[in-house]
Amino acid sequence: MSSAPLLEVRKLQKHFNLGGGKLLKAVDDLSFSIKRGETFGLVGESGCGKSTAGRTIIRLYEATGGEVLFNGQHVHQLRGSQLQEFRSQMQMVFQDPYASLNPRMTVGNIIAEGMDINKLYTGSKRKERVVQLLQDVGLNEEHASRFPHEFSGGQRQRIGIARALAINPQFIIADEPISALDVSVQAQVVNLFKRLQKERDLTYLFIAHDLAMVKHISDRIGVMYLGKLIEVTTSDALYAKPLHPYTQSLLSAIPIPDPEIERTRERIILKGEIPSPLNPPSGCPFRTRCPYVMDVCAAIMPEFKEIEPDHYAACHLYN
Ligand code: SF4
Repeated sequence: MSSAPLLEVRKLQKHFNLGGGKLLKAVDDLSFSIKRGETFGLVGESGCGKSTAGRTIIRLYEATGGEVLFNGQHVHQLRGSQLQEFRSQMQMVFQDPYASLNPRMTVGNIIAEGMDINKLYTGSKRKERVVQLLQDVGLNEEHASRFPHEFSGGQRQRIGIARALAINPQFIIADEPISALDVSVQAQVVNLFKRLQKERDLTYLFIAHDLAMVKHISDRIGVMYLGKLIEVTTSDALYAKPLHPYTQSLLSAIPIPDPEIERTRERIILKGEIPSPLNPPSGCPFRTRCPYVMDVCAAIMPEFKEIEPDHYAACHLYN
């Protein structure tokens, strides 16, 4: 794995003006980078802005502020052929594989759509390529002539992955790719992502709503709360020593498969609901639910800074 970042996100903002003076700051000042060949897990509760962040990075949404650099190029300034080239290098796998696959197209044509748009393969080469992609994701040739409704959820997600791989991207944003699947097939799809990464030298941004899901696939993890990153570090450090009280509470909710430890360990139960992003609390966004809240937390937004080597968090406990 080389150390140069393939993706750099700098103070990214995506705000939605909902009318009537309401401004939704879905993504606010997000900064992180992802190295080539790395998997970065982006985690947070529903509504925290993680999917909006993914869609802004891949430019399904224009950014309100900040920058996204991919291979050193400013993604939101790309036009014409450079934008087309970027779109072939970065692909997305969606949460709901059924909604994201056109029900009237055969699986073969769904997978080949990107190749057709980019005029990459034609005739027998196109067919060979589709068959190869189907095999790469654990399906087979005869599946090419079938329609999405004939497949299970896990198989449909495999089709979504084959479609994303069709034009040889370097980078894949996987937006909750296993959340809609049965628990029994989640591990299979995660293992498929891992195998494909090794075989194709892929880099992933893997978005999920719980930490248990990203543990086995991520090299580093970022935790989001109300549009902001509140902790970033390696997967190992995050699980061994979470610094932010919100991360600590998320981790304490994951069951441990040892009944002895499970019975005696302390759970951090969060009070209250996640506040509306339309009306976030002053100061630290987590202060309305934090068991360690202090006076300063309401007055001043904690700075996102390096607390330990390669371990960043935004919390006044570490001032
Ligand atoms: Fe809790 Fe204060 Fe830290 Fe926010 S800044 S997480 S409220 S201790």
